[in-house]
Amino acid sequence: SRFGGDEFAIVMDGKDAKEVAALAARLLEQINRPYKLDGRDVVVSASIGVAIAPNDASEGDVLLKYADIALYRAKADGRSNYRFFEAAMDAGPQPRGNLGTMLRSALAANQLELHYQPLVDLQTNEATGFEALLRWTHPERGAILPSEFIPLAEDSGLIGALGEWVLHEACAEAATWPTDLTVAINLSPLQFASSNLVAIVIHALAASGLAAKRLELEITEPVLLHDSERNLATLRQLHDLGVRISLDDFGAGYSSLRYLRSFPFDKIKIDRAFVNEICDNADCRIIVRAIAELASGLRMVTTAEGVESADQLEKVRAEGCTEAQGFVFSQPMQSSKIRDFLAQHQRLYGASLERWSSFRNLLIEAGLEKAARGFAEADRRRAAG
Ligand code: C2E
Ligand code: CA
Ligand code: CA
Repeated sequence: SRFGGDEFAIVMDGKDAKEVAALAARLLEQINRPYKLDGRDVVVSASIGVAIAPNDASEGDVLLKYADIALYRAKADGRSNYRFFEAAMDAGPQPRGNLGTMLRSALAANQLELHYQPLVDLQTNEATGFEALLRWTHPERGAILPSEFIPLAEDSGLIGALGEWVLHEACAEAATWPTDLTVAINLSPLQFASSNLVAIVIHALAASGLAAKRLELEITEPVLLHDSERNLATLRQLHDLGVRISLDDFGAGYSSLRYLRSFPFDKIKIDRAFVNEICDNADCRIIVRAIAELASGLRMVTTAEGVESADQLEKVRAEGCTEAQGFVFSQPMQSSKIRDFLAQHQRLYGASLERWSSFRNLLIEAGLEKAARGFAEADRRRAAG
C-alpha cells in the first residue's frame, strides 16, 4: 500500500527473518536497476525498515512505528539498504516519518498558527503589510521551526493541504485589517505541481472577501527552474487576477537575470545574507545597490530582508531599497498583536513625520535639500529610539 508521496508498506506472511531479508534485498536490487527516461539513464534508490510480529509487536500501529524507526536507521546508515528493528533503536533520534504523522494531525487539530511580520516602506516609514509565517507548537516537543517542517510537508505530500490552509487563514486575517495593508504568503514550489493552485487562490480570496491586489505571493527560484513554462503560465493567471508576485530570497540561489525577464515581478526580496553583512562588507553593499537599481529600473519594489539594526536600516535605505522587513521593526507576531503594533508604529513614525514635514518643505524651498534629508534622518532615528 502507498502511505505518502514516496512511502510504501508491504505486509508479508513469511516463515522467518531470512525470508524477509531475501525479499528486501530483491526489492532493492530491482528498484536500483537503471532505466531509460527520455533517452537518459535514471537510477532510483530505496531504503527499507522491517518490523516482525509478534516478536517486535503485535498491534499494527506499533509495528508500523517500529518499521519506520528501522527505515530511519537504514537511511542514516547510507540509504539503499534494509534494517531490522531493534529495541535499542527506539531510544535513538525519532524518524521524520513520525514527525510527518504528527504534522498531519497537527493540521487537523489546529495546532498550527500563522504569525505576521510587518514590511515597512522606507520612504513613508509606514507599514505596507505583513508576511504570514507558519508556526507549529507541539505539545511535547515545543516550537518546531518552519525550516524543519516545511520540507517534511513537501516530502510527505502534505504541502498541498498545508498551503491551502495558510492561504485561507491569512486571507481571512488580512480582510480584518485596514484596507491599505497587504498580506504576503509563501508558496512552496510543490504547490505549483498541483493543477488547481489558481482555483485555490480564487477560492481563498472569495471566501475572505479580500481584494486580489492586497494579496502578495512569494515564490522562490525553483518555481522558475522546473517546469518553468507551466509555472510561468500559472503565475500569469494569478497576476491577471490582480494578485502581486514577489521573488523571495533573491541572491541566495542562481539569481539569474533571466528570471527577472521571464516574469514582471512586483517585488524582489533581497536575501537576508546580504543585509546581514551590509555594514561590514563593501561587496555586500555594492551588490544590494546593484539589485536595488536593477529593480527600480524594472519598476519593482526592493525589500531588504532580515534588517536587525538601525545601522543596517540606514545602509539598505542609502543603497536604494524601497522597503524593509526585520527584527528592527518587529519579530513575527500573533494576529492579536497587529492592531497594537500598527498604533505604536504610527505613533513613532507617523507623528514625527507630520511634525517635520512642514519644516522640511521650508528647507527645500530654501534650496537646502541635503539639510532636509539630514533632519528627516535624525528625526527618524530619535523616533526609533
Ligand atoms: P522566508 O520566506 O525568507 O521568511 C523570512 C524568515 O526570516 C522568517 O523565518 C523570519 O522569522 C525570519 N526573519 C525575519 N526578520 C529577521 C531578522 O531580522 N533576523 C533574522 N535572523 N531572521 C529574520 P521563519 O519564520 O523561521 O521561516 C523560515 C522559512 O520557512 C521562510 O523563509 C519560508 O521560506 C518558510 N515558510 C514560513 N512559513 C511558510 C508557509 O506558510 N509556507 C511555505 N511554503 N513556507 C513557509
Ligand atoms: Ca518569504
Ligand atoms: Ca526570504
